[in-house]
Formats: sequence, structure tokens, C-alpha cells
Amino acid sequence: MRDHLPPGLPPDPFAGDPSDPSAALDELEPGQPLDLQERLAVEEDLADLAVYEALLADRGIRGLVVSCEDCKQDHYHDWDMLRANLLQLLVDGTVRPHEPAYDPTPEAYVTWDYCRGYADASMNEALHGGDGFDS
Ligand SMILES: [Zn+2]
Repeated sequence: MRDHLPPGLPPDPFAGDPSDPSAALDELEPGQPLDLQERLAVEEDLADLAVYEALLADRGIRGLVVSCEDCKQDHYHDWDMLRANLLQLLVDGTVRPHEPAYDPTPEAYVTWDYCRGYADASMNEALHGGDGFDS
């Protein structure tokens, strides 16, 4: 099957070798740095996260559940892990491998959408005063 290699290109000395030493290098390769827009989005997420944690941690919410497009599963992330992941993304553009859920209590995790709605409602309450049940 060498026939369709461009002429003059030396054959890959590690082709087909399962212990290919360059595979390890590939894994260590740093992620792409984020462009400005991506950085802003991540910084926004971090700011949102701080608000959501402040609002929800007291109510027994331990973090967020994210439905993962890669493995078609729900991932449960504690607040600290979410923050660490976002910071790492911001610093070197990489994301951690998918960590298996650590004995999660599904009731203790909510979605980003839930957080957004909750934060909006809290904001409204603060703006309009009272608890929304009087008047
Ligand atoms: Zn996943």
C-alpha cells in the first residue's frame, strides 16, 4: 500500500507500531488558545457561575448537570469542578477528560437553564421588593 504515498516522502518509521512514541507527544500537545470571543464567553460563564453558586449552594444545590454531546450522558459537576474546568479552559484552552460521575445525587444538580431562570427571578424579587406573594 506504499504506492499512493507521494514520492520522496520517507515512510513513517512508527507506522502501525502500537508503541509509537509520538502518540504520547500528541496527548501532551497544548490546546488551542482561545480567541477573544471565546475568552469572553468563558469569563461570562465564570461570572454567572459565581452568581448561581451564591444563590443555590445555600439551598443544597451542589453543582450543575450538563448533558454531554460527546458521550450522550449527563455529567454532574460540583461548583468547584466547574470553576476549575472553566479556568483551565481560559488558561491553556484545554478541557479535562470526562470524569465519571462520583456517586451523584441527581436532585442536588440543576441545569444552566434552571440557574438562569432562578437568577432572573431572584433579580426581579430584589428589584420589586417583597417576596412576590404580597399585594
Ligand atoms: Zn461526556
